[in-house]
Formats: sequence, structure tokens, C-alpha cells
Amino acid sequence: DNRQNNTVAYLHEKTFPPVRSLRPSEKKRILVTGGAGFVGSHLVDRLMLMGHDVIVLDNFFTGNKRNVQHWLGHPHFELVRHDVVDPFMIEVDQIYHLACPASPPHYQYNPIKTVKTSVMGTINMLGLAKRTKARFLLTSTSEVYGDPEEHPQRETYWGHVNPIGPRACYDEGKRVAETLTYSYMHQDDVDVRVARIFNTFGPRMNENDGRVVSNFIMQALKGEQLTVYGDGSQTRSFQYVHDLVDGLILLMNKNYTEPVNLGNPEEYTIRQFAELIRDQISPGTAIKIFPATTDDPQKRKPDITRAKTYLGWEPRFAVRQGLNETITWFKKQVDEGLI
Ligand code: NAD
Ligand code: UDP
Repeated sequence: DNRQNNTVAYLHEKTFPPVRSLRPSEKKRILVTGGAGFVGSHLVDRLMLMGHDVIVLDNFFTGNKRNVQHWLGHPHFELVRHDVVDPFMIEVDQIYHLACPASPPHYQYNPIKTVKTSVMGTINMLGLAKRTKARFLLTSTSEVYGDPEEHPQRETYWGHVNPIGPRACYDEGKRVAETLTYSYMHQDDVDVRVARIFNTFGPRMNENDGRVVSNFIMQALKGEQLTVYGDGSQTRSFQYVHDLVDGLILLMNKNYTEPVNLGNPEEYTIRQFAELIRDQISPGTAIKIFPATTDDPQKRKPDITRAKTYLGWEPRFAVRQGLNETITWFKKQVDEGLI
């Protein structure tokens, strides 16, 4: 009948980005935890375009179905609502383990849950890797270096973290996630990779997750004053998300098992960064100083010698170029009433 025909027509309407067709021997089943989040969804896009089968696990705490909506219904793609704190059974070849809130307001919202996500979530995914002999990649963070006394930070630096401060649930959670990863490698022969990711930005950042890039862009777009916490002399080094995705995929597929920094060494004070964003959007807007947050790292810049040497990786996007694309994306979201 008509209704049935309409349904069939509707089901055939959706067009997908063109994915490569791989021989069965090249095609991998890849699990991405946290795949509906900012970084995860860009990683999913790339793995899908490469022609792999991708399964996303996400509890949608900070992620959003909208980030992967364009793949829903694709025969190579599955989206599962699941909390990594609970075990999950599946057969896969590779696991990218990203699930964890990443912005300070989100990970501090429920610190106990953040620790559980890092500890129990990582144990569950390492257990899965052990059972299925899948290769496991942990997305760790530059926060394992804490408020660093070495600058720029090399992977050999052990860090300077306050174990009981407000950032500890995230920093120490990731540090123990690294410990677990290498314990499973040494004790149970799990094939592991560890990326230490430095501040990353790009389209699909959650507009109200409180991170500096989305805050400054949204404030400038609305003509509100830009909120600098502290005197603005603290530094960060920002990478564009597409560079990070290149690095994650290279790391997964190379034979290097030690931790690798992935970040763009282009370093800014937060004050300079506020001016850069303001001048690209609305030069007249004021920049206002607010009290510093507790335990805010004072400087951060990756030494990327390892990534260059062992992965042949370095960032290809200048910060300014990445910012342009990100600002364009945020503007479009605002114009379309999506945020
Ligand atoms: P995000 O918050 O956008 O993504 C995290 C995703 O994990 C979300 O989709 C969220 O819903 C999901 N998630 C959270 N807890 C979960 C749970 N218990 N079970 C299942 N899913 C859960 O953050 P992001 O920026 O995309 O970060 C991704 C990963 O990269 C995180 O592990 C983060 O620690 C790491 N990282 C990111 C940055 C950065 O600057 N973006 C820097 C260093 C490290
Ligand atoms: N920051 C700021 N204004 C904001 C948000 C953040 O000045 O509106 C500062 C924050 O204090 C820190 C830096 O920007 O020094 C980066 O903060 P973010 O939360 O993005 O990431 P972090 O590197 O601290 O995890």
C-alpha cells in the first residue's frame, strides 16, 4: 500500500558520505568508546571513510547523537548507548578508548563518576582487548603532567599533580588509566598504545562545556565580554582536531607502545589567545579578568619529538587556520538555531 511505499522510499532517501571499499582482509572492526563526543565523532568519520566497520559506545553524558547522525543507518556503522563503567561484550580488532568527560566543568560535575569512568571503564575495555586480542589505544592527556616544572613537556616527565585538588578526578584518573594499560601489557600481553593529547579544538566542541576555545568563540559571537580566568599569563598550546585524528590513527597502526604526546607546539598565553579570537570575530569586544581557577596549570606545550620520530607526525594546521574553520562552524550553528 501507499504507506508502505512511502516508508521504503524514505529508507532509501538517506545518502552517506562515500566510504572506501576494503578487501575483507583489510577491513577492521573498530570500537570507539566516547565516539559521540567531540574528538570521537571526528575519529569515527575518518575510520568510516577509510572503509572500516565502526561501533560507537557512548552514554551521551557530554556527547550527542547529532555528532554521528550522518552515519546512522549505514551498514558499516553501529551506535550503542552504553556506560563503559559496565562491562561490554563484543568481538573487535581495535579499540580506541576515549569515553571520559574532558572539560573541567564536566569532569568536576560528578568527580566520583569521573574516577569510575577512568578506572572501571578502562579496566573493562582492557579486559575486552585481552579477551578478543584487540589492539587498545588509550586517549590520555597532557593533564598527567599537572602544573609542569618541565617545559616543554616530554613523555619522560613524571608530572606534578595535586592528588586531592578539584582536577585530581580527571588527572589522577588518567594517570591510573595509563598504569592499568601498561599493567595489562606487561602481565597479559595486551597490545597497547597511549596518546597524551594536548588541548584540542574544532567543530562539534560542545558550546557550553566551559573550555576556553568554545567559551571565547561563543562570547565573541554574542558580543559578550571574554572571560579570562587569572591574569591570563598562563599558557596553552592548541591543536586542530583533524591533526589529532591523523595522529591517533597513525599511533594505533604503528608499532610504538610508549606514550606519545599529540599536540601543536604553537603556544599562547590565554590573554593573547583571547585577543586572537576576539580580533577574528568582533574586535570591539572587552576582555575581562576573573579569579583564577584552583590548580590551573601555568604553562603547557608539547615536545613532539617522539611523534615526529616514531609516527612521522606533526600538525599540518596553523592555529589561526583551525580557528577560522571552527568559528565558521559555530556561526553556522548559531544561525541555524542549533545552539
Ligand atoms: P567529549 O566530552 O566531547 O567526549 C567524551 C565522550 O565520552 C562523550 O561522547 C561522552 O558522552 C562519552 N562518555 C563520558 N563518560 C562515559 C561513560 N562513562 N561511558 C560511555 N561514554 C562516556 O570530550 P573530547 O574532547 O572528545 O575528549 C575525548 C577524549 O580525549 C577523552 O578521553 C579526553 O580525556 C581526551 N582528551 C581530550 C582533549 C581535548 O582537548 N579535547 C585533551 C586531552 C585528552
Ligand atoms: N580559561 C579562561 N576563560 C575561560 C575558560 C578557560 O581563561 O572562559 C582558561 C583556563 O583557566 C585555563 C585555560 O583557559 O588556563 C584552558 O582552559 P580549558 O578549560 O579550556 O582547558 P584545560 O587546559 O585547563 O583543561
